[in-house]
Amino acid sequence: MVNVDALNTLARRLSPGAMITDPDLLQSYRQDWSFDPAAGTPIAVVRASTTADVQETLRFANSNNVPVIPRGAGTSVVGGSTAVDGAITLSLERMKSIRVDVSSRTAIVEPGAITNDVKAVAAREGLYYPPDPSSYEICSIGGNAATNAGGPCCIKYGVTSDYILGMTVVLPDGSVAELGGKRIKDTPGLALTKLFVGSEGTLGVITELTLRLIPQPPTPHTLVAFFPLMADAVAAARDITSSIRPS
Ligand SMILES: Cc1cc2nc3c(=O)[nH]c(=O)nc-3n(C[C@H](O)[C@H](O)[C@H](O)COP(=O)(O)OP(=O)(O)OC[C@H]3O[C@@H](n4cnc5c(N)ncnc54)[C@H](O)[C@@H]3O)c2cc1C
Repeated sequence: MVNVDALNTLARRLSPGAMITDPDLLQSYRQDWSFDPAAGTPIAVVRASTTADVQETLRFANSNNVPVIPRGAGTSVVGGSTAVDGAITLSLERMKSIRVDVSSRTAIVEPGAITNDVKAVAAREGLYYPPDPSSYEICSIGGNAATNAGGPCCIKYGVTSDYILGMTVVLPDGSVAELGGKRIKDTPGLALTKLFVGSEGTLGVITELTLRLIPQPPTPHTLVAFFPLMADAVAAARDITSSIRPS
């Protein structure tokens, strides 16, 4: 267990107000949406504002042998961001910037941006960010990348990994790796960007993402049809999907 002096040293290296150690405030970072009654209590929560904050935290944790739980919006239903006793919870909730580059149809986003906000900023430019986990109004884009989130439209559009072109990650020793980039054909070497998508914070902490956007699709229409026999319904579904792919 690290002592208070060591934590204070870390706090001084971080952006002002980044570290929380108040026991009452720590409570709100114990559980995620799995609501595990056995959730631990972190020794501290670091609310990073910059990649440098994340680097300082991971360097400190690495040299003091302290586990780190990265946390986006805490909507994991499987305990992914549940706190562990004696660990530091590293929250990305303050890193929320979203920039859209219309000419390359990409967005550069920080991990704490809420997915719905990413969609809204893209839509203002006539562009579309398709991945739609049902939690899109409350989850973060960094959490989506870390879990490779997908939603009801994934049959038509794919899942989060299909829209991540690149990322900045901080590795456990505090070093920074830049993976991928804006180009779709950015493929030399190992597919490290794909490796990090879905790795749930076990390989490093994502501090920036480059997302692929597509043109806004036309307004969707919903069709309801009734069939006397199941076989007729299956045949109709096969006919329709042989020429178009509904979402
Ligand atoms: C009502 C509801 C509906 C849902 N529907 C869906 C759905 O349709 N599809 C689906 O896939 N999921 C769904 N989920 C689960 C959840 O919303 C997703 O897994 C989402 O991607 C998590 O995002 P988050 O920001 O809340 O991440 P968190 O819960 O905070 O973290 C999730 C995991 O990612 C890691 N992590 C978070 N941020 C980073 C980062 N920056 N760098 C590295 N690791 C990080 C955490 O350590 C943890 O392991 C749903 C959840 C709820 C509550």
